[in-house]
Amino acid sequence: MRLVVDLNRCQGYAQCAFLAPDVFAMHGDEGLLYDPQAEEEQRERLAQAAAACPVQAILVDDLDRDRTREQDQDRTGAAEAPDA
Ligand code: SF4
Repeated sequence: MRLVVDLNRCQGYAQCAFLAPDVFAMHGDEGLLYDPQAEEEQRERLAQAAAACPVQAILVDDLDRDRTREQDQDRTGAAEAPDA
């Protein structure tokens, strides 16, 4: 998963570092450090961190796309259920 933080927007509130500490870390005066290639198992925590960021500075590739795919699968599954 690719991850980008708009550091021009980031105000250092540290919500992300609290919610996804394996991906984000506050680093003194330098501000936020993060792993731009986050592991797949961080997906849920990243979603929470992105949602919690007060200035919406966290952008995660695939997060919305995968959510849409899951919704499509749910719909497909629901449509197939009567045939089973
Ligand atoms: S929660 Fe948002 S504003 Fe706060 S440190 Fe993380 S990216 Fe920056």
